[in-house]
Amino acid sequence: MLRVNGVSTYYGNIQALKNISMEVAEGEIITLIGANGAGKTTTLMSISGLVPPRQGEIIFKGKPIQGMSPEKIVFLGISQVPEGRRIFPYLTVAENLDMGTFLRKDKDNIRKDLSYIWDLFPILSKRRLQAGGTLSGGEQQMLAISRALMARPKLLLLDEPSLGLAPLIVRQIFEIIKKINAENNTTIFLVEQNANLALKVAHRGYVMENGAITMSDSAPNLLSNEAVKKAYLGL
Ligand code: ATP
Repeated sequence: MLRVNGVSTYYGNIQALKNISMEVAEGEIITLIGANGAGKTTTLMSISGLVPPRQGEIIFKGKPIQGMSPEKIVFLGISQVPEGRRIFPYLTVAENLDMGTFLRKDKDNIRKDLSYIWDLFPILSKRRLQAGGTLSGGEQQMLAISRALMARPKLLLLDEPSLGLAPLIVRQIFEIIKKINAENNTTIFLVEQNANLALKVAHRGYVMENGAITMSDSAPNLLSNEAVKKAYLGL
């Protein structure tokens, strides 16, 4: 579904991604793990077009997308849930979800997708007329994921969904991530610092250090890899 081929991305003179290559197959959950500042967010931004790569190509469903506008990339089927949620605090839950549909014209399907969201996150349904900014951190994460789902993505990019949330809420969010993948056949690209949890839900994983991919394997193999255990699992 997605092939990242020799991508290098810069912020001015700072090279954040160094010739990275990765692949994501349809229906997979893949995770990218790494320390603070390794380049995980930049990888997602490069794919979603928010920080276009300077070199290399990104092929989505057979088409090169590097250099396309973020809107075009959303339209083709890639949605990103940004780090820190970035919901619209003064808009209601329902209005936030509406923002996720800005490129869609298929009103009947939008209604169906909305009722899917209310089933997925019943708490959001209860809070549908409440301002986004008044929700708890966990509810805001649910809203951010839901807003991205309202664009009907084929590939969902999730940036640190566990950030700042209590362990119980994190487990709930990860259960939902598995459900979205299994029920909708939505392919998921998960960036996480919580490597332990991420590798438990993912099929495969990549490890990133200083802007380069240093390891890639099945999630169970990475979980039992001694170097990964030491560096990322605190074991
Ligand atoms: P974190 O877990 O802290 O979000 P990360 O692995 O997602 O880290 P990135 O945010 O992609 O890492 O950052 C990769 C590198 O690029 C870091 O050295 C960072 O300081 C740098 N960087 C990120 N954003 C910018 C920016 N807007 N301008 C300049 N440098 C940046």
